[in-house]
Amino acid sequence: MTQPDINPPATSLPDIYLYDTLQRQKVKFEASVPDKVGMYLCGPTVYSDAHLGHAKKEVAFDVVRRYFIHRGYAVRYVSNITDVGHLQNDSDDGEDKIARRAALEKLEPMEVAEKYYWSFMDDMQRLGVLRPSIQPRATGHIIEQIELIQQLIAKGHAYETGGSVYFDVRSWPEYGKLSGRKLDDQEEGVREEVRSEKRDPRDFALWKRAEAGHIMRWPSPWGDGFPGWHIECSAMSLKYLGENFDIHGGGLDLQFPHHEAEIAQSEAAGHGFARYWMHNNMLTIGGEKMSKSKGNFTTLQQLFERVDPQIVRFMLVGSHYRSITEFSEEAFVSAQSGYKRLSEAVNELERRLVSAPAATVSTQNAQNTGPLMQQAAKAAADFEAAMSDDFNTPRALAALFNLTTDVNTALAAGEVSTQAMQSALKVYRDLGGKVLGLFGGPATAGTPQDDGALLGTLMDVVLQARDHYRLNKQYAQSDALRGKLQEVGVTIEDTKDGARWKR
Ligand SMILES: [Zn+2]
Repeated sequence: MTQPDINPPATSLPDIYLYDTLQRQKVKFEASVPDKVGMYLCGPTVYSDAHLGHAKKEVAFDVVRRYFIHRGYAVRYVSNITDVGHLQNDSDDGEDKIARRAALEKLEPMEVAEKYYWSFMDDMQRLGVLRPSIQPRATGHIIEQIELIQQLIAKGHAYETGGSVYFDVRSWPEYGKLSGRKLDDQEEGVREEVRSEKRDPRDFALWKRAEAGHIMRWPSPWGDGFPGWHIECSAMSLKYLGENFDIHGGGLDLQFPHHEAEIAQSEAAGHGFARYWMHNNMLTIGGEKMSKSKGNFTTLQQLFERVDPQIVRFMLVGSHYRSITEFSEEAFVSAQSGYKRLSEAVNELERRLVSAPAATVSTQNAQNTGPLMQQAAKAAADFEAAMSDDFNTPRALAALFNLTTDVNTALAAGEVSTQAMQSALKVYRDLGGKVLGLFGGPATAGTPQDDGALLGTLMDVVLQARDHYRLNKQYAQSDALRGKLQEVGVTIEDTKDGARWKR
């Protein structure tokens, strides 16, 4: 009997389809360079603590990246850090968000950027978001931005006026092709001075003249100033991913004007830009978008004080990235019980495999595997099909829940072969763990696959040491060991069959 292979060669796996915002439909993904994916994600403006809305975006694209890695692609994942140029008003008016925060907190602007950069990185680490391959900062790429602006001026798509440089949208008829918006209706409340500088109110700033007292300023061919918010993403994606890179991601709220401007700047300067555009939907609370400006947000740090980051991640992958995720206490309660159900099956399989004699791991008992082998293979196939269909994480999770029902039934019925348990565990670890980032899965890509088995072996050694203490009535030592394990999230339970552990 041949065994079902839950990791068949890449050729037999389904093609990956994704929803491309630009084409407004699901399209088959074709890498521009075989086996490689270049991804760019608009990262945070580091002037405040991240909230759940940021987490939704980061987790959504982290899962996309992880799935490509799982499918054998080498992914270069570039996500920028905006530390200059993001003004309070989308229409090139208002204070720089970081400078404003610096004044409030009585800090240097770069102290603000450092403080909130590290706070963001800590939050992402706790959520299990893989670190970007490259994380360029806007202030570190002023030269590249100036060069791109010069190319735009040379080609007649940008003009200088009074020390500022604007993109001339009338010179680029394709402006608006991503969002379908032709007119900028966001000009309300813009200072007359800024409005009158522009040839067309829809023109957007590539470079802004620094007024007296403006701290963040750099010399340029047009005098002291600072870059507009949009130009950094064009300059840095071009530098690190080259022309015609594969996927550009970001929140739906960035589609206009930010992404529209990115496309116009890059293409008008003569560069090929992103081939696919992916946008995640928003996170709402009480039906309203969670945002800093609305003040209806919970920072991730506040949330992590009462909810395990893994539960937060589980809740986020429980809704599709293009759907609106509604944040509520009930959603967490239900995520908690759902995640517990899956994790308990994983823990139980690990525990049984640790105690299973190694000799049974052979092809000889393949006939006695029961239905669980096939069920594991089906769960893997369902998971792959769901993820290949525009990264449908809720359907992928449903495949894991179905498997959990099968695992629980098989284990309750009695003897299950080691191979069947290993196959099921592999589905949880390789797909739930490495792709969705659950079950305390590896925080970095490429961690050896046998972490689960190693942990089981180590825990065996620890439990033997504890038995030894108890036999010798060294209860203080035995309790200390248990306490230490508790601190790292491992609980020991004494049952009639001996000590058991779980994460
Ligand atoms: Zn961007």
